[in-house]
Amino acid sequence: MRVDIISIFPDYLAPLDLSLMGKAPVALTVHDLRTWTSDVHRTVDDTPYGGGPGMVMRPEPWGLALDSVLSPGARLLVPSPAGAPFTQKMAHALAEEEHLVFACGRYEGIDQRVIEHYAATEVSLGDYVLFGGEVAVLVMMEAIVRLLPGVLGNASSLDDESHAHGLLETPVYTKPASWREHEVPAVLRSGDHGKVARWRRDQALLRTAARRPDLLAALDPATLDKRDIAL
Ligand code: SAM
Repeated sequence: MRVDIISIFPDYLAPLDLSLMGKAPVALTVHDLRTWTSDVHRTVDDTPYGGGPGMVMRPEPWGLALDSVLSPGARLLVPSPAGAPFTQKMAHALAEEEHLVFACGRYEGIDQRVIEHYAATEVSLGDYVLFGGEVAVLVMMEAIVRLLPGVLGNASSLDDESHAHGLLETPVYTKPASWREHEVPAVLRSGDHGKVARWRRDQALLRTAARRPDLLAALDPATLDKRDIAL
C-alpha cells in the first residue's frame, strides 16, 4: 500500500515510523504543504469569505500539492469533524486500497472547493473538535495498517476483537488467577473449550447491551443463535 500525507506540521506524523508502523508493508511519504507555496511567507491560509473568526486554508497550495501527489485511482481522505464517522468497517475498506492520500486541515479547515474538486471523502474521528487533522490521520493509519496482511503476529486476534462482528470484545484476563482478592472467572480456568467459547460470547453480548445498545440494535439477527436470543 502507498500512503501520502500532506500537512503543515509534518513532524506531527513522526510516530508513524515507530513500532508496528515501521514494519508494515506501507510506502509512506509525509509532505509539507508549504512546499507548494510561492510567496516569501509560505502562506497557506487567509480570512474567510463572509467574515467570521479564524482563517481558512487557501485552495492554491492544496491544488498544487494534490495534483502532484494523487495517482489515478488514489483515495483522498480529509479529516473533518463534519465528515462521516470513521469505523472499523471503513478501516477494512481502506485497507483494500492501493493508494491513500490524507490532507490534514488546520485553522477553520480547507476551502470547500478543494474537497469538491477532488471528490474527497471527509472523515470524522468523533463528535469533538481537534486542532488539526494530523492526530486523526495517526489514528486512522493505526486502524488501517493493523488490518494489512502480515502486520499482526496472530491474525486470528482480528476476528474476535471489538467491532469485528458488531460486538464489543469479552473481558480479558491473565495470570495470576487471584489478584488483590479479585478472581479470574472459573470457567476460563476449566479447560472446557466449549464452555469458554459460550461464556465469551455471552460476555460480549452482555457488555455490548450494557455499553453500546446502538451496536446491539444494529446486529444482523442472522448472526445470532438460540442461546444468544435466550440471553
Ligand atoms: N471549523 C471546523 C468545524 O467546526 O467543523 C473545525 C476545524 S478544526 C479546528 C481544524 C482541523 O482539525 C479540521 O480541518 C480537521 O482536519 C481536523 N479535525 C478537527 N476535529 C476533527 C475530528 N473530530 N475528526 C477529524 N478531523 C478533525
